Amino acid sequence: MVNTDSKVTLDTLKNRNKHSILIENIRTEIKRLEDLEWTMFFLTGQRHISEFKEMKQQTVLPRRQQRKTREIVYDKLPKETIITEGKDIGLTKWQEQWTSSTKGAVSKLFFPSIRERMKTMLPLSLEFTTIVTGHGLNRSYLHRFKIIPNSTCPCRLQEEQTINHIIFKCTQLKNERRILQNAITRTGDTWPTPYEQLTRKHVKLLIQFVRSIDFSTL
Ligand SMILES: [Zn+2]
Repeated sequence: MVNTDSKVTLDTLKNRNKHSILIENIRTEIKRLEDLEWTMFFLTGQRHISEFKEMKQQTVLPRRQQRKTREIVYDKLPKETIITEGKDIGLTKWQEQWTSSTKGAVSKLFFPSIRERMKTMLPLSLEFTTIVTGHGLNRSYLHRFKIIPNSTCPCRLQEEQTINHIIFKCTQLKNERRILQNAITRTGDTWPTPYEQLTRKHVKLLIQFVRSIDFSTL
């Protein structure tokens, strides 16, 4: 059994195009030992050592299985892989919390996937944040925090001024909405567009729409 911490060495051994002197010497030695009916194991880390012990306890392995165990295996990973995987685990955990949390209902509609969210640079203006989080300049929010006496939009619909109302219904934003809607339907997509499409595929158009809104009159 050959136990090594070097994944690079194992990778080099597997790569038939690599012919450095050291690697060639190792290959020659492997060949010599295998010719002497040795079964070679290339292992790294504690896990494979215990697997090897288990294997030894078993009765003689059939020839075919022996061949299989001769394959080069490793469980030590390069630092970059661990960092990438660490980030991935972190993101998965964050995603689980994000999905199960009862908070951020509006944000979750716009950003169901944290991975997708992290791919896009978004403006941090109060207006844009209001639209994608529901927290800020909309009457529904301001009323909830008792900053204003009621949540009704001043437009003709006389209904609660939610984010859904602002984007899809508010009669005061007819012109602004028409520009957004036309641009989206020109791409072949439908209106009303799902929230998560607005922040992904059509994010530039959404940013333009938000910029065109005069929040002081809403
Ligand atoms: Zn309105």
